[in-house]
Amino acid sequence: MFGGRFQHVCEQCFHQSPRKVSLTDLCQSHPRPVPLLAHIITDSTRKQCHAIRPMPYAPHVRMCAHSSRGFLCREENGHCPNAHSEVELAVWKVEQKYGLTRSAIQDDTGENIGFYCRLCLVSASTQESFEAHCSSLEHGRILAADSLQVWNHRDPPDRMKRCFICENPSQCIYGEGCEKAHSQEELQEWILRVKISRRNKQVVEEESLQSYRDRLMQEYQHSSSDNPVLSEEGEVIEGIKVICDSPLEIKSEQKPVKKDWNFTVHSKGLTICSEEL
Ligand SMILES: [Zn+2]
Ligand SMILES: [Zn+2]
Ligand SMILES: [Zn+2]
Ligand SMILES: [Zn+2]
Repeated sequence: MFGGRFQHVCEQCFHQSPRKVSLTDLCQSHPRPVPLLAHIITDSTRKQCHAIRPMPYAPHVRMCAHSSRGFLCREENGHCPNAHSEVELAVWKVEQKYGLTRSAIQDDTGENIGFYCRLCLVSASTQESFEAHCSSLEHGRILAADSLQVWNHRDPPDRMKRCFICENPSQCIYGEGCEKAHSQEELQEWILRVKISRRNKQVVEEESLQSYRDRLMQEYQHSSSDNPVLSEEGEVIEGIKVICDSPLEIKSEQKPVKKDWNFTVHSKGLTICSEEL
């Protein structure tokens, strides 16, 4: 009915950040992987991997309201009592009705999918290529709920925290460029899009799916120390060393002063860029 394969994946890998999809037999990180049934559909560009969690003890199983409205449910790791995919719901229903044995639907062959972005349904075999995905334009667009669904109205204005309705849409001088909604429907759509994007951001932060730059920014904002990002000595950010060729502070009697600093950024023994400021 759904195509794809049912396979047991390592639960520990599946719930780590970032998420990883490894078959229980092929997991190299956990000596005793806990099996979690998953449904995997692969085509050339997208990989869908849905966990089929144990059936909840409820008289009626139903879809999670978050998942069905395009939100990512934050209780994905087992606590939400509702299904997060059509296939999970279908398996639960069959289990409830006919007492299905899960091993009967499991497929024998399969391959490791690797690091998995459940926002974009994209996988990567190495940490580096996964980082690259998380920094990609497409990932950013999906994060901002731009390509999640087909929207009927204009894109909401950038960096909007609250959406407003235009007082006079029919004679508005800003036309298509107006930062306020031109109809009640447009306003409702904007509110939904802002909500989805905010929810996705939370999930992305919790599951380490943000781009490397955003993660550094977040770590820096949340760090309690007053460490400067740039320092003449040592590693301020783990794995990264920034070296400057001359002192960061200069004193001068006359103004204006022109001064060049050369920064070299080393990451894990590899020089990634050298910039002149
Ligand atoms: Zn594992
Ligand atoms: Zn849920
Ligand atoms: Zn992604
Ligand atoms: Zn307007």
